[in-house]
Amino acid sequence: MIEVAGLEKTYGDFSAVVDSTFAVEEGEVFGIVGPNGAGKTTTLKTLAGLIEPTAGEARVAGYDSTEPAMRHHLGFLPEESPLYEEMTATSYLRFFADLYEVPRSVADERIDRALDRLDLDHRDRRLGDVSKGMKRKVAIARSLVNDPDVLVYDEPASGLDPVTTNSVLEFTRELRAAGKTVVFSAHNLYHVESVCDRVVIMNEGRIVARGTVDEIRERHGETTYHVYTD
Ligand code: ATP
Repeated sequence: MIEVAGLEKTYGDFSAVVDSTFAVEEGEVFGIVGPNGAGKTTTLKTLAGLIEPTAGEARVAGYDSTEPAMRHHLGFLPEESPLYEEMTATSYLRFFADLYEVPRSVADERIDRALDRLDLDHRDRRLGDVSKGMKRKVAIARSLVNDPDVLVYDEPASGLDPVTTNSVLEFTRELRAAGKTVVFSAHNLYHVESVCDRVVIMNEGRIVARGTVDEIRERHGETTYHVYTD
């Protein structure tokens, strides 16, 4: 469902991503783990078509990531999701559904399903007044309004309390059960190990380890596990 080959992104002399190659199967949850500045966001934004690679390519659902048609198949959750503070969760999500030209009845059903599953209360409170966890849940619901096959989530579980973190991780597992393909980044291997089928660890723009979390531990030992992650 996703194929990344020889991906490079440079800014002037600085390489944010260096020769990155990996593939993600349909229905898989794939983790990209690494410390600050490792190149995770750059990789994910490239998949989402927001950054053009300097070299190499990223293909998503059969499209080059730079093709506008690809975006119909993808839901992106940025690290910081700007929400319109004066809107309520429902009006905000309807607004995005309209942008994707989803018919209102279909959109309302989709929005309700996502918000019910995410246990989102206070749907009619202005977004400026809700907690960080609720904002993250609204942003996750936003990534689903166009019913995409592929979800690309940038640190969906970071900075949340343990209950909300678990609920976001559990929701990710449910997306896989529903047949979605999910790529998500994390600082912390503990966040990915209960959810991801496979992971890559990135450091300074390069993939330094890959496999299941158990394989990485076995092959590289606890040192890699701790050096490259929180
Ligand atoms: P974090 O966990 O802090 O979000 P990350 O792994 O997501 O880190 P990136 O955001 O992909 O890392 O950044 C990788 C490197 O590229 C960093 O050193 C960053 O400063 C640099 N970088 C990212 N975007 C730009 C840009 N537009 N111009 C110059 N350098 C950039």
